[in-house]
Amino acid sequence: MSNKQCVRVTVASWRSGYRRRPSAGLALALWVAGTGFVPGMASSAEDWSAPYELLGRETAPGTKNKFQFIDDRSFEASYLNTPVFVARGAAPGPTLCLAAGIHGDELNGVEVARRAFAQIDAKELRGTVIALMAINAEGVRTGNRYLSDRRDLNRSFPGSAGGSVASIIANAVFSKVIKRCDALIDLHTASNNRANVPQIRADLSNPAIRDMAMHFGVGIVVGGAGPDGSLRGEAANAGITAIIYEAGEPLRFEEEQIDRGMRGVHNVMAFLDMTDEAAQKIPDDRVYQRSRWVRAKSGQGGFFFPTTRLGDMVEVGDSLGSVLDPLTDQAHDVVSPIAGEVIGMAVPQPVLSGYGLVHMAWHDSD
Ligand SMILES: [Zn+2]
Repeated sequence: MSNKQCVRVTVASWRSGYRRRPSAGLALALWVAGTGFVPGMASSAEDWSAPYELLGRETAPGTKNKFQFIDDRSFEASYLNTPVFVARGAAPGPTLCLAAGIHGDELNGVEVARRAFAQIDAKELRGTVIALMAINAEGVRTGNRYLSDRRDLNRSFPGSAGGSVASIIANAVFSKVIKRCDALIDLHTASNNRANVPQIRADLSNPAIRDMAMHFGVGIVVGGAGPDGSLRGEAANAGITAIIYEAGEPLRFEEEQIDRGMRGVHNVMAFLDMTDEAAQKIPDDRVYQRSRWVRAKSGQGGFFFPTTRLGDMVEVGDSLGSVLDPLTDQAHDVVSPIAGEVIGMAVPQPVLSGYGLVHMAWHDSD
């Protein structure tokens, strides 16, 4: 059985095979039997009484640990000095990873990861939580989406040890940490000058991913496999149950979006049976299979003034706002070509032809 197949069996079996355990020793036996875990794979074959090893650091069962990705202070290490937080449960269970700050300006996700981790009681936890707090650490410090070489780290996975800076970082993160995850939540916000309603993005064609996405339990789920080279897409290709949480705007901390993300992380932990909390699930009608941007039409640039708001439900022909040409004083109405929900939008700003103004999502059957 390949590593990929093994992890897939594990993920698909969590809900059916991995239930409450009376003791850690018996728990491991029941868990292995229930999940189809194969010794030597992922977290399955670990001796749970021994410390958990990651990046050369050890974390005892029932405790938390915080350290740097690279344990040195060299000039070179500054590329990869993301903080790594580990919570090792007292009892066996899956490994859930949180990835934050791949885009350095997307701060809500960093705070979601920090607060969600802070709330974990490792003594009550089943399994392991690994939080990579600021993968593009330099970008988080400087408010920059990209790396210093202007590359997008989230198009560089799984990376290679002999590639660009982005590729080297992606390779180190992917090979040393991500491959040890059974499930992954990648935490993002909208990009520059845009805002997203809190939402999960997930490959709905993968049943395990769809199921976990719905059990994030807040907001909506929008379908899509993610671009090539994205952490989420490449993790899914490696058999990891990977989803993205998107909420709010870059370069700021937004309490509601952070709080909903934090609750979502804990809902996923409940879904994976890592805690005793009750699992939450959104209804089927909050899952959208389709999405697209309504853009400024060719020749209709100017100042964008939206009238719609995040989360609005709109019909075909509804006005979403207008683009005003300040030289001609001509106003162009922005009209929705589809019926659906506004899941993201540009903030008021000057725009040129083709600029994405309003991001709509809708059901396949509509
Ligand atoms: Zn992002």
